[in-house]
Amino acid sequence: MIALNHLSKSFGKQAVLKNISLTVNKGEVVVILGPSGSGKTTLLRCINYLERPNEGSIAIGDFAVDCKHPGKKDIHRLRQKTAMVFQHYNLFKHKTAIENVMEGLVVVQKVPKEEARERSAAVLAKVGLGNKLDAYPSELSGGQQQRVGIARALALNPEVILFDEPTSALDPELVGEVLDVIRKIASEGITMIVVTHEMGFAREVSNHVVFMDGGVIVEEGKPNELFGAPKEERTKQFLKRITPEWSYDI
Ligand code: ADP
Ligand code: MG
Repeated sequence: MIALNHLSKSFGKQAVLKNISLTVNKGEVVVILGPSGSGKTTLLRCINYLERPNEGSIAIGDFAVDCKHPGKKDIHRLRQKTAMVFQHYNLFKHKTAIENVMEGLVVVQKVPKEEARERSAAVLAKVGLGNKLDAYPSELSGGQQQRVGIARALALNPEVILFDEPTSALDPELVGEVLDVIRKIASEGITMIVVTHEMGFAREVSNHVVFMDGGVIVEEGKPNELFGAPKEERTKQFLKRITPEWSYDI
């Protein structure tokens, strides 16, 4: 289980996350929705400690970090338990697909190179890139590059994978292949937190949906509740704008 308790984060005087509490059970897929600037990326980056929250605590399993007074080892342990999939893939351009996947295993997790290579080849096969192990990012489509990004996260065997708008940089015809891979991983029971604007996908794969605006959680619930019968005015307005073809009880 992952528990965020009273997380707050400011950049200078701007409060970007305001007292966020969220629980994600093991094996759950939680989707985070919200307009641009609502703090979604910052929230994911705080869970991975790419940003340091000013207040609150983060617990993953029985390991908890008090964000105000984290130990040096706490940050390292938190990063070991989480993996991030970025909007713009963030692959090393001068490394091949398999080298990109191996990097975290060898450098961070200190896995011996040969074992890392085998594990990386296996996860690349899993995301449908078994024939692209030695391709450089420039030789891959956006969808393939993002699948390398997903393989890199999977290889680390984290307790949770954090996806930050994984398909929003892709041409529309490449979105499907990436969503298919995420769907497949979700069905294997890996805990995931996914920021996405793909509403059909969100409705189908998530167990729990969170709507954020202005650095707070405005509303959360089961996908059928939140998409089918949102309670808060701000949620209704957002959903109406983004999925005008769905009908809402307004
Ligand atoms: P979202 O992902 O929902 O679009 P973000 O978490 O990226 O939102 O950003 C929330 C707010 O925090 C925005 O106003 C953004 O400008 C600000 N912000 C994000 N990162 C930084 C940063 N490193 N320094 C200053 N402001 C930031
Ligand atoms: Mg963002």
